[in-house]
Amino acid sequence: ETQQEAIRAAAEAVADRLEAEKEYLTELDSAIGDADHGSNLARGFRAAADAVKDDTESTPQELVKKMGVTLISKVGGASGPLYGGSIMSASQTLDDGVTAETSVAFAEAYLEKVKDRGDAQLGAKTMVDALTPAVHTYKKSIEVDDLPPLTALAKSTAAAERGVEFTVPIRAQKGRASYLGWRSVGHQDPGATSTWFIMQELLSVAD
Ligand code: ADP
Ligand code: MG
Ligand code: MG
Repeated sequence: ETQQEAIRAAAEAVADRLEAEKEYLTELDSAIGDADHGSNLARGFRAAADAVKDDTESTPQELVKKMGVTLISKVGGASGPLYGGSIMSASQTLDDGVTAETSVAFAEAYLEKVKDRGDAQLGAKTMVDALTPAVHTYKKSIEVDDLPPLTALAKSTAAAERGVEFTVPIRAQKGRASYLGWRSVGHQDPGATSTWFIMQELLSVAD
């Protein structure tokens, strides 16, 4: 399997999963937002998968960039530029394709972009709360513990899940959920949840 084929397979798996979780993500967003996160992401990631489906010319970097560009135009809302813009920007780290080293650089660049664009710190009850422990765990697993990328991704995905759980008892400080103030407490963040679902699919495709 080439890297391009792996990327297309991952894109399909993510699109299928978000389609399957559409109602659930929308239910989470209806509690603390405007009930569109599921449809935003299902629509966007389906379009992103379709955009790379028959593309056998592009490099791995170009495929990932194309998905980011498609997400920006198809997702909308707060999560469109966060997901799409950050994927697009982080694709710059994939000059040499996808290796253990470039995947760490991609993950770090992605997290930095999300924080940059959204201006959300850890604990603001956003996707940053799933991403931060996931990216730190991935980097440490590869660079310090010298684990194989698949093992690192499994640990990272488990860290994302704990990040999702961490969003439940805290108060939202960014995005629509922040308008609710203390009433956002007790609800799980939709964007942290979708981030974790996407990581689960990347893990299952890599496995
Ligand atoms: P919208 O809120 O515009 O309807 P979505 O429902 O698609 O967009 O996405 C909501 C999710 O976006 C939230 O659950 C949260 O994780 C994420 N989000 C919102 N604002 C920010 C921000 N400033 N920084 C990081 N993530 C954010
Ligand atoms: Mg919403
Ligand atoms: Mg919206």
